[in-house]
Amino acid sequence: MKRTRIAQLIKSGKIGACFTIMGWVRTKRDSKGGFSFIEVNDGSSLKGLQIIADKTLSNNKEEILKIQTGSAVSVTGKLFDSPGKGQKIELHADEIMIIGQVDPEEYPLQKKRHSFEYLRGIAHLRPRTNTFGAVARIRNALSFAIHKFFQEKGFYYIHTPIISGSDCEGAGETFRVTTFELDNIPKKDGKVSFEDDFFGVPANLTVSGQLEGEIYAMALSDVYTFGPTFRAENSHTSRHLAEFWMVEPEMAFCDLTGNRELAVEFLKYLFSYVLDNCEDDLEFFNNFVDKTVLATINGLASMDDQFMTYTEAIDILKKAKVKFEFPVKWGLDLQSEHERYLCEKVFHGPIVLVDYPKEIKPFYMKLNEDGKTVRAMDLLLPKIGEIIGGSQREENYDLLYERMLAQGINADDYWWYLDLRKFGSAPHSGFGLGFERLVQLVTGLSNIRDVIPFPRTPGNLNI
Ligand code: ATP
Ligand code: MN
Repeated sequence: MKRTRIAQLIKSGKIGACFTIMGWVRTKRDSKGGFSFIEVNDGSSLKGLQIIADKTLSNNKEEILKIQTGSAVSVTGKLFDSPGKGQKIELHADEIMIIGQVDPEEYPLQKKRHSFEYLRGIAHLRPRTNTFGAVARIRNALSFAIHKFFQEKGFYYIHTPIISGSDCEGAGETFRVTTFELDNIPKKDGKVSFEDDFFGVPANLTVSGQLEGEIYAMALSDVYTFGPTFRAENSHTSRHLAEFWMVEPEMAFCDLTGNRELAVEFLKYLFSYVLDNCEDDLEFFNNFVDKTVLATINGLASMDDQFMTYTEAIDILKKAKVKFEFPVKWGLDLQSEHERYLCEKVFHGPIVLVDYPKEIKPFYMKLNEDGKTVRAMDLLLPKIGEIIGGSQREENYDLLYERMLAQGINADDYWWYLDLRKFGSAPHSGFGLGFERLVQLVTGLSNIRDVIPFPRTPGNLNI
């Protein structure tokens, strides 16, 4: 008989029908009356399926005795309403087969609950737990919703490169890409001879797809990239990974207002999408990880488009009756304590700050008429702080060139970027959303290492 995934079986609700399911045993309990209750989960949903095995089983009963927590099994039987608590339906087995056995002495997932830290050490098995199964399904749903949002709006998905020759404004420390033998690097006049390297020039893993995204926006109008980015920053925080995923839309003929409005609409869409499509998993996170998660997402799904300038925000912070670790003055790069104060104590919700001092922002952001600020925007959320950073890009060749010089950037390296301002230049804007920060918000998981399947952080590369 053809296998049915448990999620589909539950959805079908076909009481009285016959099914074959396959999955991994979570628990087994033998009752005195010769019954066994076996909980099987195949990852297709948070919910597993309760299997009742009794004397009517057609194949040998010894098979049931051998079943362990973690065994892979195949069960064929009839679906019934369940009289027991905790589940609506159960499968009465006609036949049970062990497909893959485990040694209970060795299998690490025996207990019902393990610490996140312990589970990080067994990244190959943690997806079999409720939490990590749910994280994987939420990541899947959010990824799908991201594509759905942009596709429905007529944006094109662009595959920006992973290996890059530019380091995008020095957004972070980069990882080098080379085929040099590390103990025998060719040198000329004491300097590394990149001519002899694979690409003939220095290369690194990308820190952002933005600059290449701009190239395509200046041809296809509205585009987005969604891919892995890499930063060799040595930060041991709960919000930084060395490899993370970023969503970066880029729009031609669009100013900062359009950019800001899109960012808010985008987030609201994503929050509504998970509320509509991931009910069980969200309820699980709300019950077992963070009791405020559902209320937070519900609030954000209908958030207002509030914004103010950086300068106005500084004035508010100056008047605040709290002592900040970093003293407030105009020109300060806002820290998460300031961002959170604004969201949590002043606006009681998300806020977008715009028009930041040019000194604290990258060269490509468009200069305002005041000559002091640039058209940058950061979307700030309670508890999280910055989740989205974006800007209107400088489309004026001369101003861009000046800003490059002022920030010590070698304009020759960015000849193609400058060309875009020479040939049919147009206002354009975009932003970047850190995908894992979004997953943290939706799941309530406090450590970013727990929202990506295989986290890469300084000193850590398990699997
Ligand atoms: P932060 O100040 O938190 O390090 P950033 O200013 O370096 O962030 P950007 O360069 O603007 O961030 O990157 C865009 C988005 O990518 C950020 O808003 C954030 O959501 C996410 N992000 C940045 N660095 C990391 C990282 N190391 N790990 C995970 N997400 C990140
Ligand atoms: Mn950073």
